[in-house]
Amino acid sequence: MKFLRTTTEEKHTGGGGVSKYDNIGDPVVLSHQLLNTKKSFRYKKYTHVRISEVHSFCPREYAIGYLTDTAQENYVDFPLQQQFDLGSAIHYWVQNGHSKVFKDVICGTWKCLGCRNKRKNKDGSIYFGTKPKTNCETCGAFPEATVYDEFMFRIDKPYRIVGKMDEILFKDGVYRIGDFKSYWQRPKSGFPIGKDVVQLSSYMYFYSLLPDELKFPVNVDTTCGYLHYISKKFSFTESILTYPIRPNKKMLEPIIRNVGAFTNAANIRKLPPPLSVCLRSEFKKGRAKDCYMADKCKEYYYNGITKC
Ligand code: SF4
Ligand SMILES: [Zn+2]
Repeated sequence: MKFLRTTTEEKHTGGGGVSKYDNIGDPVVLSHQLLNTKKSFRYKKYTHVRISEVHSFCPREYAIGYLTDTAQENYVDFPLQQQFDLGSAIHYWVQNGHSKVFKDVICGTWKCLGCRNKRKNKDGSIYFGTKPKTNCETCGAFPEATVYDEFMFRIDKPYRIVGKMDEILFKDGVYRIGDFKSYWQRPKSGFPIGKDVVQLSSYMYFYSLLPDELKFPVNVDTTCGYLHYISKKFSFTESILTYPIRPNKKMLEPIIRNVGAFTNAANIRKLPPPLSVCLRSEFKKGRAKDCYMADKCKEYYYNGITKC
């Protein structure tokens, strides 16, 4: 009598149940041998400022990249990529009702994985609201096949900016924008973290500038949003920490100025000046060391080139 398992093993291992990896005892080496731990390729164009970068981007780097049609190409080691991916997995878990904590609170548009269509209302318009509990109206797939469709906007005017929102939270009759951040340890300086506040404030500000046809079909209150810090470590009292964020003019001013500087440079093809921190180090240290456009920036600066 032959069991299926025996037959399958013989077929795949050549019959001996021996693998060339069996003598590897080091768990790190074995992971590299068995799994795909290659670096991940990243490609980034400089056409629009990403809201996730507004707190730190250089308008000159973006302008040079955009005007010379140069994209950033680099590789990310797998340990770092793993952190990014785990962060995305937490977002997915929260947005799609796997965490009851956020279930029926998150609103937005939704798409069906069965047919790739957006979920719709009876009249054929795009559905907006909490996760649909009915089968897909286009292909009949179960509601479990429906996933959150993160809201994305990309505009050229009045600013060249692109953003993807984590959440619209509906409570007490009010729709507000939310952002998720996963964390391991509470930072010494405490929550909320400055750059997260700037980012969420920017989402609220730039969303308010969108033309009506790009906005949600409901009125979103952009005077207040929520930052949710989700703990990856067990914590009885601090599993999720939510902070209300009210954008203020002083905080947004430098962001608007920098995004405006890039947008203007893209329109009139004139480069913004280098950052003083890069000039001071003669493009050798700090920001310039990590900048993808540093060589071009330096060359243009020392050759007096201001237009591209
Ligand atoms: S080297 Fe400095 S100033 Fe030049 S583009 Fe890069 S970050 Fe901006
Ligand atoms: Zn479908």
